Amino acid sequence: MTGSQQSGHQATAGGNQEYRARWQGALTNNYGTPALALVRGEGAQVWDADGKQYTDYVGGIAVNALGHAHPAIVEAVTTQITTLGHVSNLYASEPVVALGERLLQLFGRLGKVFFCNSGAEAVEGAFKIGRLTGRTHMVATTGGFHGRTMGALALTGQPAKQGPFLPLPGEVTHVPYGDVEALRAAVTEETALVIIEPIQGENGVVVPPAGYLTAAREITRATGTLLVLDEVQTGIGRCGQWFEHQAHEGVEPDIVTLAKGLGGGLPIGAVAAFGPVADLLQPGQHGTTFGGNPVACAAGLAVIDTIAAEGLLDRVKELGERLRSGIEASGHPLVDRVRGAGLLLGMVLTEPVAQKVQLAAQEAGFLVNAPAPDVVRLMPPYVLSEDEADAFVRALPGILDASREDGRSGE
Ligand code: PMP
Repeated sequence: MTGSQQSGHQATAGGNQEYRARWQGALTNNYGTPALALVRGEGAQVWDADGKQYTDYVGGIAVNALGHAHPAIVEAVTTQITTLGHVSNLYASEPVVALGERLLQLFGRLGKVFFCNSGAEAVEGAFKIGRLTGRTHMVATTGGFHGRTMGALALTGQPAKQGPFLPLPGEVTHVPYGDVEALRAAVTEETALVIIEPIQGENGVVVPPAGYLTAAREITRATGTLLVLDEVQTGIGRCGQWFEHQAHEGVEPDIVTLAKGLGGGLPIGAVAAFGPVADLLQPGQHGTTFGGNPVACAAGLAVIDTIAAEGLLDRVKELGERLRSGIEASGHPLVDRVRGAGLLLGMVLTEPVAQKVQLAAQEAGFLVNAPAPDVVRLMPPYVLSEDEADAFVRALPGILDASREDGRSGE
């Protein structure tokens, strides 16, 4: 039987294996061929083409804040697409204006929002605003990830990802993440912008020392440099507040980039610029056909309204703590510690076996991700239930044992 939306929890003919063959025949292989094809999701649960069920701790890579098929998103998207699907930026529409207003309200500051379609595009927008200061030098952090388009890649502090594409738009200095003195030494009155993730997500959920963002704000203010906080991964409640920098008192960035969780699964990105910086971008200097698409913006409003109405920011904090303390209490020798905030957690391992943990977790019915050899990243939807969280904690020792045994037999 062939699967459909209704019967997606049953195996599809050919299953995962057939999808792998079709992928290889039709799609670029830059991610490698995925092992699984997912056919249906509901809340924090997903089903693959073999009919197997998983709890989804990947969440579309920190995208599915409300989980899969959340009624509020389904309704908002359905209503909008049947009313007005797309207009371009030649015309205003209610959802784009309302989402811009709503975001500024959540920031609690005066500014302007530019909508685009992804995190990398949001960073490109910030990059271009940086150039409009008349300065060209930029400072970013080692290990930082800001996207794969050429400007964003220039800021991404991962040489392996940049290598084949050099030269990239310059001049970018990368400084060690969390090192205030290195930042102070690199930033001058020639520096257009400093871009920092409040927590480095792709680099393995790396949390900077306390006071880092505050120091970055002081340093950039002293040199008239823009402070860009890349909240593509940490924003929209992922870490327990609307934007992670709001956990750092007094840190008011000039620009914030958003994407991922903002659309609850629809492609959308945003650049928010505050104060006088909001007016640097003049009409005609930047644009995109799909940015501010009414359907994506309607989904964004549904995400924000639901988080607010259901008190999900508190829930993110509670669930994050529940997972963190449960994992740490396991006392398993493979677990060094858990770092991160809210529902962006990195389980740091004592051995570089994160890939094996990912596979063993999959076997046990949990989708997790391995951004670094010794880090397993957890970024489940905010609607994860306590029971679902506890089930992962209970299964973890078995998953870790299996990963260790695999590792040893492979040596
Ligand atoms: N910035 C950060 C902090 C990210 O985590 C990511 C994606 N992982 C990006 C930018 C790029 O976003 P996208 O993949 O939507 O281009």
